[in-house]
Amino acid sequence: MKRDYYEVLGVGKEATLDEIKKAYRRLAMQFHPDQNPGNKEAEEKFKEAAEAYAILSDADKRRRYDQFGFQGAQGSGGGTQFQFDPSQFAGFEDILGSFFGGGIFADLFGGGGARRRSGGGERGSDLQYNLRISFKEALFGVDSKEIDIPRQDACDTCRGSGCAPGTSPQVCPNCHGNGQVAVRQGFLQMAVTCPRCEGRGQIIPSPCSSCRGAGRISRRTKVKFRIPAGVDRGQRLRLQNEGEAGIMGGPPGDLFIAFDVEDDPDYERDGLDLHRRLEVPWALLVLGGDFPVETPYGKESVRIAKGTPSDKVVKIPNAGVPRLRAAGRGDLYLHLRVAVPTRLSSQEEALVRQLLEGAAVSEEGGEEEGFLAKVFGSDKGKKKKKKR
Ligand SMILES: [Zn+2]
Ligand SMILES: [Zn+2]
Repeated sequence: MKRDYYEVLGVGKEATLDEIKKAYRRLAMQFHPDQNPGNKEAEEKFKEAAEAYAILSDADKRRRYDQFGFQGAQGSGGGTQFQFDPSQFAGFEDILGSFFGGGIFADLFGGGGARRRSGGGERGSDLQYNLRISFKEALFGVDSKEIDIPRQDACDTCRGSGCAPGTSPQVCPNCHGNGQVAVRQGFLQMAVTCPRCEGRGQIIPSPCSSCRGAGRISRRTKVKFRIPAGVDRGQRLRLQNEGEAGIMGGPPGDLFIAFDVEDDPDYERDGLDLHRRLEVPWALLVLGGDFPVETPYGKESVRIAKGTPSDKVVKIPNAGVPRLRAAGRGDLYLHLRVAVPTRLSSQEEALVRQLLEGAAVSEEGGEEEGFLAKVFGSDKGKKKKKKR
């Protein structure tokens, strides 16, 4: 049974972010593996606290957790296993990095920046995949995106050990498993990498025939992941352990997805805000009224005030790009532009002429500005000089 996240951190349901941070920090220090070497229980406690913190420190996830429990916190498409969000990861290092010098999370949760050896194995390389997504995909995210990548995977026959079935690696007779041998140069004694095992400390007496002892094979592999709503061009997502397989039982590397986002014909993105040109009939600017507009999130109605200038910018709050790690979105700015009719019926033309004449009359009379003058924004000084 999973424990309630609030219970794990020992805080109340109403706890502030600051209280959550403090509680997590206290637990993380207490159960940190460096303080409790070899203590499995402490490690579990540490992971449990990290998971609780990942959810409760994120306003959006916390709300979903409060509402729907564990399932809610993981979002749709998430399995029963806790999904480690790489963007959250950065948050941990912010808090704890200064204490433990980073790297520890990578070790605990598999992969990461640390290249620590485990049982002579070497960590697999990190990979980067450049993924071009549409404007809409960036805006709304994608629950399950699948890509097909060429990758070094662990050999199925030997499960990555590189040894023929029924055999196992042996301690390197040259360095006796140290991976290094001493070399004397005059008075100096130096340790150099063992040439026989290349520093691994182990050799493979009978190599696996499928991978010729490499433990890895090249193949194309399908990888599935979730694209969070709001990603932008140039941002990277880290998929832990989805990089190349490790060498001789080492941990796999990570896969980074680097995003490129296609332009959209209608919207221009500026950080969290969106901008869009909007053609409106001039008569609407003159008379005012409601005007229907499309936003990425559906139809909205914009109220245009009577006598609105032609270059007005209308802001629709919260109709921009979703924030990656928090609730809410940026804004949508509609840049109004007068739609000038190019075809008029004779009746319409007569009406417009009438309006123009009306404008001329009011000019001569030196009275109020004409409607058209208002719409097209000419100022009085210029107008007076004009002769018709
Ligand atoms: Zn093999
Ligand atoms: Zn050796």
